[in-house]
Amino acid sequence: MVCKLCNLEHKSIWHYEDEYFVVCDCKKCRVPMIVLKRHDTELTPYESQRLIELLTKFAERKRVSFVRRSIPDHWHMHIRTSRRIE
Ligand SMILES: [Zn+2]
Ligand SMILES: [Zn+2]
Repeated sequence: MVCKLCNLEHKSIWHYEDEYFVVCDCKKCRVPMIVLKRHDTELTPYESQRLIELLTKFAERKRVSFVRRSIPDHWHMHIRTSRRIE
């Protein structure tokens, strides 16, 4: 099966992109999500460091959800506003 997160389309709004991550809107949940560009479940130490920088930029004072309900084998994270409860 083709992994949806490996084949991210530019159909939703992309907020940010670098060589490690993409921050784009999740069409299903209608919140931004951070997606790792590699197909993996774990971040390298360097990627974790980059993630912290991204979180201070995009997720300040917001709840983040590590729950990967629909695509468990590709690392991604939803940035939920405080009103939404996971
Ligand atoms: Zn989603
Ligand atoms: Zn993937």
